[in-house]
Amino acid sequence: MKKKWIPLVVVGALAVTALAACGKSDDKASESAGGDKGNSKIGVAIYKFDDTFMSGVRAAIEGAASGKATLDIVDSQNSQPTQNDKVDLFVSKKYGAMAINPVDRTAAGVIIDKAKDADIPVVFLNREPSADDMKKWDKVYYVGAKAEQSGTMEGELLAEYWKAHPEMDTNKDGVLQYIMLKGEPGHQDAELRTKFSIKAIEDAGIKVEKLAEDTAMWDRVKAQDKMQTFLSAHGSKIEAVLANNDDMALGAIEALKAAGYFKDGKFLPVVGVDATAPALQALSDGTLLGTVLNDAKNQGKATFELANVLSKGETPSKDNTGYDITDGKYVWIAYKKITKDNMNDAK
Ligand code: BGC
Ligand code: CA
Repeated sequence: MKKKWIPLVVVGALAVTALAACGKSDDKASESAGGDKGNSKIGVAIYKFDDTFMSGVRAAIEGAASGKATLDIVDSQNSQPTQNDKVDLFVSKKYGAMAINPVDRTAAGVIIDKAKDADIPVVFLNREPSADDMKKWDKVYYVGAKAEQSGTMEGELLAEYWKAHPEMDTNKDGVLQYIMLKGEPGHQDAELRTKFSIKAIEDAGIKVEKLAEDTAMWDRVKAQDKMQTFLSAHGSKIEAVLANNDDMALGAIEALKAAGYFKDGKFLPVVGVDATAPALQALSDGTLLGTVLNDAKNQGKATFELANVLSKGETPSKDNTGYDITDGKYVWIAYKKITKDNMNDAK
């Protein structure tokens, strides 16, 4: 009997080794101890690496993990099927926890089903799953920021400026004529920033007129193109630009510069959200009027702390993560208004 079983064990071990080799992804993480027995490694899937804000979050996750845990961080390349494959890979490697920045947040339910089947806790970030999906399993968490808060703050920044500068109502009709550059449709930050920024301006007693609104998919170059088109259509009728993020605000500023703005006293208020490094530069240059700090550092750190605790089989709490957990599932990182005056707070 004994003799018969030894070769089988050897064959089995070889097969496992071969499988592990096949399963190796092209990502940069190194394989850590634990192997096929399951391990404490954390799989992180970002919706796409080529996103200014998410690059900051990614760096913060890596910074927080340094010396504490091994990460396997992968680029979902803005494709939900690609991300699902990455999740399958994390599952097959029996990672201790996953942190997922969904490409399409309505796909969270499918990811939760996979995670639950494999009993691998999952922390979503930046793209908020529906409340129903969040309720599917108790080992599902979300780290993000309240989208409506950023919209309100962005609107308030513009309203404060408008009230202090009556000369900005260039056609003197008592109405603020604006352009809205939206992020990706369906993203909570795109929908709610669009809605609540305008609501804040109206709540401040200012009448508004939308000249144009379109999505530029969070992207600087696309926003520059759209703004060029809006400038040809509406020209000097435009009195302000609201963008759902800084990259798009910066794209709009490029188009405005090409149309002669930001020199010889020609100014137009442009506001964004994120407080990325290039946006802070634009604040100090005096082109961007204001932005809202979307705290990449704390979002990344909270994501890691939760995933790390979960990978050890513990339940996240303020004590073991340093962050308040709301409704047993959510970590909300606060936004903050940023202008040239307090830009050091965002550095
Ligand atoms: C940020 C955007 C970013 C998006 C990615 C938002 O919270 O403000 O800059 O492109 O998240 O999902
Ligand atoms: Ca006007």
